[in-house]
Amino acid sequence: MLENLTALPADKILALMAKYKEDPRTDKVDLGVGVYKDASGNTPVMRAVKEAERRILADQTSKAYTGLAGDPAFGTAMRELVLADSVPAERVAAVATPGGTGAIRQALELIKMAAPDATVWLSNPTWPNHPSIIKYLGMKMAEYRYFDEETRGVDFDGLMADLDGIAAGDVVLLHGCCHNPTGANLTLDQMDQVIAKLQAKGAVPLVDIAYQGFGDGLDADAVATRRIASSFDNVLIAASCSKNFGVYRERTGILMAVAKDADQKALAQQTLAYLNRQNYSFPPDHGARVVTTILTDPELRADWEAELEETRNGMLALRQQLADELKRLTNSDRFNFLADHRGMFSRLGTSPEKVEQLRAEHGIYMVGDSRMNIAGLNAKTVPILAKAIVDAGI
Ligand code: PMP
Repeated sequence: MLENLTALPADKILALMAKYKEDPRTDKVDLGVGVYKDASGNTPVMRAVKEAERRILADQTSKAYTGLAGDPAFGTAMRELVLADSVPAERVAAVATPGGTGAIRQALELIKMAAPDATVWLSNPTWPNHPSIIKYLGMKMAEYRYFDEETRGVDFDGLMADLDGIAAGDVVLLHGCCHNPTGANLTLDQMDQVIAKLQAKGAVPLVDIAYQGFGDGLDADAVATRRIASSFDNVLIAASCSKNFGVYRERTGILMAVAKDADQKALAQQTLAYLNRQNYSFPPDHGARVVTTILTDPELRADWEAELEETRNGMLALRQQLADELKRLTNSDRFNFLADHRGMFSRLGTSPEKVEQLRAEHGIYMVGDSRMNIAGLNAKTVPILAKAIVDAGI
């Protein structure tokens, strides 16, 4: 049987990580994989997470199954964190999932059940797992323009023109904040125009929000998602806790389905629980319990918010430092987009050859599409990167 398998292409980011590990240079810089790193290159366990885990370890008396949708308290806490009061709870079905990836997978499975002929529209570019899962599920897929290679901002005219091609019932995937891989984001005014277009076309939004708190703040980063949630009868929202709680390996995420009314919510809730059952039965609990403990305890929550704020401000300071350094070296404003981008990533906007040149000559590792993980920098490596960018003639 196994002889029938065909080799799959290697994951580019994982291959890059392996190459970085093998590189003997001591001044190498890793801007590859999408994991937050502090100034010393560590991905710390957040203080509030440690404390919540300590409490859970001390207090937990059972490891019996939770529900198929996960612990309802997690659903409530996450709905409040992501959606606040933008939609009444009576309209929101929710299931815990293994990470944001699990939420996206379940969202797509739900779409496949409810609207098998729908085309799922993705930004070009987007997080590679989006097209990969859609392809795996055999669903229809289309792209809308997103990134302006010239300005390194959003190609809004291209985006709006491409969205003219959506048909009623199609699904449009939007990044809630901190677009991966570009770092370029729609303004709220532009998001309102996208919402109006989707409403006019009768499309259903699928929001992927994986970096709430990494851009402009917990509430600011959720504003677009909340506006979308309150503007349609049906919206799917896949949220990840991997980054903002730093619980990557615990696989903590949630899929929320905004329904038209309470009856439709009940139907969606039942279907989501069914999908969990078919795919892995009960979702992981530890990370979800940590998140719930933090969000429902005022002291832990305040500490988590403070540490997240430090994380966010650290990335913003690195962005500004890099933009300033490049301004000084090039005597131009053309790298200002680095300070305007939000989230963990920025797409530098250069060729795979230049990316390879940065790796070979300067030991700077970024993904081939020139996506840089800003959190991979620190105050000392920013000038090294800036000089390498200039030396490479980017
Ligand atoms: N969506 C996007 C855009 C992401 O970048 C990520 C993380 N790389 C995810 C979803 C999901 O991450 P996880 O499954 O680790 O929670």
